[in-house]
Amino acid sequence: MKHQPVIVVHGGAGSLPSEADRREYLRGVNEALDAGLAALSDGAATAVREAVAWLEAHTITNAGQGAALAADGSVRLDAGFMEGATRRYGGVTGVRACIHPVRLAERLMHDGPYGRLLGPPDVDALAASMGLALDDPESLVTDRTRRLFEQRREQDPAAGSTAWLDTVGAVALDAEGHVAAAVSTGGMSLKRPGRIGDSPIVGAGFWADDRMGACVTTGVGEVLLRQGVARRCVQLVGAGQSAAGAAEAALAEIVDYPDDRRGPSGLVLVTRDGEVALDHNSDEMSGGWARPDGQREVHHLWRGR
Ligand code: ASP
Repeated sequence: MKHQPVIVVHGGAGSLPSEADRREYLRGVNEALDAGLAALSDGAATAVREAVAWLEAHTITNAGQGAALAADGSVRLDAGFMEGATRRYGGVTGVRACIHPVRLAERLMHDGPYGRLLGPPDVDALAASMGLALDDPESLVTDRTRRLFEQRREQDPAAGSTAWLDTVGAVALDAEGHVAAAVSTGGMSLKRPGRIGDSPIVGAGFWADDRMGACVTTGVGEVLLRQGVARRCVQLVGAGQSAAGAAEAALAEIVDYPDDRRGPSGLVLVTRDGEVALDHNSDEMSGGWARPDGQREVHHLWRGR
């Protein structure tokens, strides 16, 4: 059977302070698509890893270097990884001294079966064993994230915030018909230290199944976890929905609960047939897709536009 290889990347759901930031996000998405596309002939898993790793090293996104700071001013990174052929996954949380948590999550996916989800302090030991540990965790903090942290702390000392675009993620379909999903984040700005969002959690932050498709989410982890949004979205494709229909329905199911607020969120999806969707209920989201034949679309999406 012939497949239509494609890679889809997003730079997060939220809202940005300036046009300059928006341009920088779109540049990041385009370059991450280039990185993923260059690796797509090696398989969907390699493509999503390379795309996300590129964004982790790009300091504007909330992933790797330049990630949002927790309430105590520390960087604590989460990531998840899944391949659709085996439905194996890996997840890391609370990474403090590594720019590329996505590579740690991928390693855990291969290393299983017990210990596919790893937290501190062993997760930084894993980074060290892979030669990926930073000598100075403070090097993950940029002037921009320190400045935004100070501003946020003054405005809203009690709460986490998605006030600027967040998590990064990628899904892909390769020529063999395999799908994969990868996600990486610093989590919610000003989050409680030790808090775990959706991104390292299989089913909530990411899901991949060759029989249906692959999805990664971004937004308020507490809400995405409750609804198991990534898996739900892929299952809606399995139940016969189009990519756009499944994305819209999965986001619509993020409902208000009496004890919680609705979380501005987004997702990207690829189906086993190579159909893609990027959707969100946040104010903004950046993302795009590219195919080896040169087709490409990159958008800054706005709610209601
Ligand atoms: N979903 C991430 C979390 O809750 C953050 C985000 O996507 O903005 O940690």
